[in-house]
Amino acid sequence: MDQRVSRIVSLNPLLEDWDAPYGLPPFDAIRAEHFVPALQVAMQAHRAELDTIAVQGEPPSFDNTIAAFDRCARLLGRIESVFYNLTASQTSPELQAVQRELAAPLSAHYSAVFMHAGLFERVDALHARRDALPLTAEQRRLLERTHLDFVRSGAKLAPEAQARYAQVMEQLAELTTRFAQNVLHDEASYQLLLQREADLAGLPGFLRDAARQAASERGLAEGHVITLSRSLIVPFLTFSERRDLREMAWRAWVGRGERAGEHDNRPVVRAILELRAEQAALHGYACYADYALADTMAGTRAAVHALLDDVWPRALAAVERERKALQEVMSAPRPPRASSSPQEGMGNVAQPHLPMLEQPPTAAAQQPIEAWDWRYWAEKVRQQRYALDDAQIKPYFPLPRVVQAAFDCAQRLFGLQFTAREDLPVYHPDVKAYEVRNAAGAVVAVFLQDNFARGPKRSGAWMSMLRSQSRNEPGGGSALPVVLNNNNFAKGAPGAPTLLSLEDARTLFHEFGHGLHGMLSDVHYERLSGTQVLKDFVELPSQLFEHWITEPAVLKRHARHWQTDEPIPDALIERLHAARRFNQGYETVRYCASTYADMALHALPREQLPADPCAWEAQELHRLGLPDGVGMNHRLVHFQHLFSSSGYAAGYYVYLWAEVLDADGFEAFKEAGDPFDPRVAERLHRHVYASGNSIEPGAAYAAFRGRGPQVEPLLRKRGLLETVD
Ligand SMILES: [Zn+2]
Repeated sequence: MDQRVSRIVSLNPLLEDWDAPYGLPPFDAIRAEHFVPALQVAMQAHRAELDTIAVQGEPPSFDNTIAAFDRCARLLGRIESVFYNLTASQTSPELQAVQRELAAPLSAHYSAVFMHAGLFERVDALHARRDALPLTAEQRRLLERTHLDFVRSGAKLAPEAQARYAQVMEQLAELTTRFAQNVLHDEASYQLLLQREADLAGLPGFLRDAARQAASERGLAEGHVITLSRSLIVPFLTFSERRDLREMAWRAWVGRGERAGEHDNRPVVRAILELRAEQAALHGYACYADYALADTMAGTRAAVHALLDDVWPRALAAVERERKALQEVMSAPRPPRASSSPQEGMGNVAQPHLPMLEQPPTAAAQQPIEAWDWRYWAEKVRQQRYALDDAQIKPYFPLPRVVQAAFDCAQRLFGLQFTAREDLPVYHPDVKAYEVRNAAGAVVAVFLQDNFARGPKRSGAWMSMLRSQSRNEPGGGSALPVVLNNNNFAKGAPGAPTLLSLEDARTLFHEFGHGLHGMLSDVHYERLSGTQVLKDFVELPSQLFEHWITEPAVLKRHARHWQTDEPIPDALIERLHAARRFNQGYETVRYCASTYADMALHALPREQLPADPCAWEAQELHRLGLPDGVGMNHRLVHFQHLFSSSGYAAGYYVYLWAEVLDADGFEAFKEAGDPFDPRVAERLHRHVYASGNSIEPGAAYAAFRGRGPQVEPLLRKRGLLETVD
């Protein structure tokens, strides 16, 4: 190490021992400029570890090669996880610049790891005689997984092909980074300013409060602001009576990534697709989808389409039933506003003198339902049919209660206990840290939860790890998982509570379900731990956990009015359940449209890739028969799942795939007659939440359920089995 490097090391908190409790990172001391030198040192250290394995005199054995490889890169891993965490949750122009600077070198590093000829020779030799090796089931799986990781990263390619492959991966890393930064730019730079009372027509109290809070966070002394954060834009489209403003907001939302200029994602998408097609071709696959699907439960495009094609016509039929209901409400005489629920005006300003902003009923009836209208009219149908609206539900879902509900479910199902630890270091004052103990009282994980939307934070909700569970650490010993959940809830005004919609609460449970997958992980090898499963299995623990938030027993205990502490009334729970399948046709069609687009786009051979992804998207949706006024969950130009990394490329179907499993899996509790049945919970814990990737996912599911999955519970859950709604 030269003097310059050693000086950087001594001053760099990323490279020092982290002596905070549980080895948490010293967030306070970490600056953007620390990452480049620290990652250089960590990459160098990783290469040295690999060389040591490759050049040792001993012939390859499971322990000196496969287990040793699994013990590598701990320094690099801990720095990278802090880095990606900060760039997603608390970024800055400096960090963004570092991210652009590091994308290619990090990618080049991983290419070099998996193309390390001496190392792969040993891995390949062990793999070839795997049947003759005395291995446990988990060791056998690690050997196969490791070998496949090498092969899928280009280890078997000829030298020239390897060089090109590494270039392709570097360019992809740069482009996906740019894609994500472009989306963030368009989200952060947009605001719909509502200055007059008339601009707020129809907005319930919680939304006014959140929009006011968003305005003050942007330094505005007065007025209200709608941003493109889901927790503002979706309720705005649901409640605003101002059709003109709904259209304006909707266009901004779906136009992210499509604005000409520096942040235009159209050329980025095009370039990513070209490179992915080349990547697949280097591996000998006809298209990227085939390459991606080869390492999934589904395995093939045909298997994905079999499921999609089963759901799609049912969803189309459901959406037309829903459209009829919307049109009926549009053409009916409007009930007086005051007749909705008593709680609707909670915290709201009375607004008796608003001008009539919607068109008169007859004109509205003749108008087609546009994409910026659907949620608004759907909400009216929901209020009329089920006497239910979001403004009435939200007071029962103050954020801290929903967090407690998630913890309580984890305790009743898996014996976990969460204790707040305000002394643990975090990267932003909004982040809450918890120590997690199992039923025997031993600490099994640290959990960090970051719930609020902020300008420097990407949109959406996600789970990540600062450290993965393992019992195969360098020098012996175990690693305690450190799990992070990010949500993007609009923060209540100072002094006012943050109230969640049922959708928000479900999102929190979803990410917490992923979190449990990380926290309950109980395997030997790091590569097989927690969420590092096949990508169409990874949504099972998260989606399954969502079921508990709507269980009456959970609602009665935790859904309490933020002002009166009254539990949610039984009648409201009944109405929530009655409305459960409402608008599921709309949701399913939007999801499937994005999924079909993802599959079709990644199935194109290189010579057929579209010059303009937006024009291709419009054509594809037309070919598919996407009904008017519905739209898709994510348009290609801001589809982060597909283009912010390659994790979900040709993989957006995984949510539906896993939903077959979660809907069928939750039935096991129903069959037992208890949502917390201890025997079912024990099997779920052992075979799904704790087993990571140590067993094949189909076998893991069958071990939990006692049989393979059936698709009917999914169709029933979404109301897609009925002929009439
Ligand atoms: Zn998820």
